[in-house]
Amino acid sequence: MIIEKLAVGAYAANCFIIGDESTKTGIVVDPGGEAERIYKKIEDLGLKLKYIILTHGHGDHIGGIEKLKKLTGAEVLIHHDDAMMLKDPTINLTASMNGPTVSSDPDKTIGDRDILAIGNLKCEIIHTPGHTRGGICLYFAKEKVLISGDTLFYGSIGRTDLAGGSHKQLINSILERLMILDDQVTVYPGHGASTTIGFERKRNPFLQG
Ligand SMILES: [Zn+2]
Ligand SMILES: [Zn+2]
Repeated sequence: MIIEKLAVGAYAANCFIIGDESTKTGIVVDPGGEAERIYKKIEDLGLKLKYIILTHGHGDHIGGIEKLKKLTGAEVLIHHDDAMMLKDPTINLTASMNGPTVSSDPDKTIGDRDILAIGNLKCEIIHTPGHTRGGICLYFAKEKVLISGDTLFYGSIGRTDLAGGSHKQLINSILERLMILDDQVTVYPGHGASTTIGFERKRNPFLQG
C-alpha cells in the first residue's frame, strides 16, 4: 500500500494519496488546495487516479477538487449527507476562505459500509457524523489503516460548532464505530500527526469515563 501525506492550504489540512502497488491504481482523499502539487506527487508515484474522496464537505478539505478533477479525470465521491455542502460556498466555508470558492456536484455519493475497490485494495466507508452530518472515515481493514478526517485527531476530536455539528453524535460515532477497531490500526487524521486506535482509546481525554 502506498500512502503519502501532504499538508495543503492555509489550514494545513492533510491530503492523502493512497495507491495499490501492484496495479498502480490510486485515490486522493481531501485535496484541500494546491491541486498542482498533489498532481505532481501522483505523477511521481506513477498512479492512475480513480477517485477523489472527501471525508466531509469543509473548505479546507475540498478546495482543490475542481482543478484536480480536471487534471486527472477521477470521480469525486462524498457521503450523501454532505453532498449539498459541496454546492454551497457559504455552507462549505470556501466563501469565507482565501482560495477559490467551491460549488460542485459529486460524481457519486457514498454511504455507510460501502466497499470501494482501489486496484487490489479494499476500502470500507464508515459513516461518523458529528463534525458534519455526512462525515466519513475510510477503513482499510487488511492494511490496518484508518483515514479519520476531522472526526478523530491525535489526542483530540473534531469541532462541533459548525453547521451540522453535534458533540454527542461525534462522541457516539467515535466510540461505537472507531473504538471497536484493533489497537494496532494506524489513524491518519485530517490535521496534524498520525496516531493509533490503541493510543486514543487509552489517552484521548475526550473518550475517557
Ligand atoms: Zn472540517
Ligand atoms: Zn479540517
